[in-house]
Amino acid sequence: MKKVFTTQEGVKMNFRLDFGDIKNLINEFQYLMDTLEIMGDIDFKYFYRVTDDNYIQLAYKMDKRGMELCAQYKLRYDNLKENIIFIVKENIEAHLPYIGFPIFQNSVVFTKEEFDGIIQIMKDEKVVITEKVKSYETPLIDYLRAQKLNPRPKGGNPNSWVAKCPCGGNHQIMVSNLHDEWGCGYCKRKGKIPELGKWLQEIKIKEDQRMLSRFMKESESGELSSEILHWWVNRY
Ligand SMILES: [Zn+2]
Repeated sequence: MKKVFTTQEGVKMNFRLDFGDIKNLINEFQYLMDTLEIMGDIDFKYFYRVTDDNYIQLAYKMDKRGMELCAQYKLRYDNLKENIIFIVKENIEAHLPYIGFPIFQNSVVFTKEEFDGIIQIMKDEKVVITEKVKSYETPLIDYLRAQKLNPRPKGGNPNSWVAKCPCGGNHQIMVSNLHDEWGCGYCKRKGKIPELGKWLQEIKIKEDQRMLSRFMKESESGELSSEILHWWVNRY
């Protein structure tokens, strides 16, 4: 009986969402597609698996590395292809801020036209949402943008946005425009603009200390790397 390791749904962005080990399940996955990702440079092979407890799972292979599970959702449609489109869209959406849209290479489920159509719909949805929410922009959104944290609306709700987490991790903070509040469930931090400013300051100080200790170490060895030299020159 094919079952899921956890009944949680979502796209795996870090170790906190654990879909279990698939090493012994690899032959239960079906080939889905090849795409080029990360500036069109890297070939990703995708596979899917439908479980007897009604989940669809998406896995990928990159370079010579082993297969890794990247997303899992309950089956939502009667038609398998609709379920595949759903999980593929969720996966693209989650990684969009980091790697952009994938480029179609090959698939046994989609034609190139179908895949490009899915991407186009996602792009169109973004334009519609962006136009709809322009009037909802708030001081917190402006602040996030000024800090280059790429705030953007999440789903269809104009009051609910996400942005890059300032911790530098591969996850997002949630932003509510109703009271200009933000929060990160992973980092366990939340607040309004002042708390965000304070946190960014803490992160900056920590980073500076890290670079300073590297500078000291490299100075002792008598060989300064160009990265450190650049940092040192720009520090004052
Ligand atoms: Zn965080």
